Amino acid sequence: MLADDSEEDEVLYCICRSNGEDNLPMILCEECEMWYHLHCLGFQPGDDELIDVFKCPACTERTGQKTSWRVKCSREECRHASRLPLSIYCSDACGIFLMSLKLRQINIHPDSVEQAGYKVSNYTNIPSLVFNGDGDKVSSVSLAANSKKQDCLATLTTLNTQITRYTNQIALLTKQESYHKLAVARAQSLSSHLLDVNQTNSPDKPKKPKGRGASIPKGYCGFDYRLLADDEDWEGLDVHQIENTPVETDALLCNLKESACSRHKEWRKMMEYKLQVHRSTLEAKQFKLQSRQQQLSLKVRHYDKVLEIIAVAAAAKDAGAAQASS
Ligand SMILES: [Zn+2]
Ligand SMILES: [Zn+2]
Ligand SMILES: [Zn+2]
Ligand SMILES: [Zn+2]
Repeated sequence: MLADDSEEDEVLYCICRSNGEDNLPMILCEECEMWYHLHCLGFQPGDDELIDVFKCPACTERTGQKTSWRVKCSREECRHASRLPLSIYCSDACGIFLMSLKLRQINIHPDSVEQAGYKVSNYTNIPSLVFNGDGDKVSSVSLAANSKKQDCLATLTTLNTQITRYTNQIALLTKQESYHKLAVARAQSLSSHLLDVNQTNSPDKPKKPKGRGASIPKGYCGFDYRLLADDEDWEGLDVHQIENTPVETDALLCNLKESACSRHKEWRKMMEYKLQVHRSTLEAKQFKLQSRQQQLSLKVRHYDKVLEIIAVAAAAKDAGAAQASS
């Protein structure tokens, strides 16, 4: 089937024996490590992500092993593979997206919180309570308002600490996002550097055709192991120093060929996605705390108003009593 006398200076791809310069999306057979056009095998564009392990027709015939597929993400518009058995979605982002749609439907506008929570009519009862001389009732209202206010203030203190923690985490995330961009750029320079070195060292090898499809490995992995650092390590990371370290001497960059590195497959996209998910999670959590904070502040305002009306009414009553007795 494969011609032995195929031209030596040209690598051929796929069942169509093309030279791979057509920019069409391709997929790698994990058995024979040859590249195939999705189109030539009857796949749809994007199917490569839904394919778990691809075996080309020749290898399927030879080994009996078939291409295995993954399950699609449950968000209808999404073409990515789900993370089953962990999740029916491809990512937290897709899960959160659907959840936020639902949340938006039941979301109360901040302005309506006060009306929804506390009826203004509560306040108008208070002066008559004071004037009608039901002292026990007035002091129990006053005590209740005071103790509830203290509860709210205590919860607010805790909330503020949590919100500050999220603010710091989001700031750190911003640092990680910009570092990701730097890592992508550095991986690119490392790749070009290694390509140059290897091309000069082995002039016999055929020159790689330029402008191929994105799924063809054309360079070196370049993954920056610092991207895996935990939050504490990130705090101390000196980005400026790394920026000034030449890529070829940076021991924390993966220098495997992209096609040979299975550990960091698609790391640019994966890391970017992970950061996006992290951001939307943090922002959603912080938003929830901030709504709670706003609601509690309104409650405090409400109790203050109750206490103020009681004080004013009591003062007015005392003044009236003093006037009556003189
Ligand atoms: Zn083809
Ligand atoms: Zn194969
Ligand atoms: Zn999805
Ligand atoms: Zn790698």
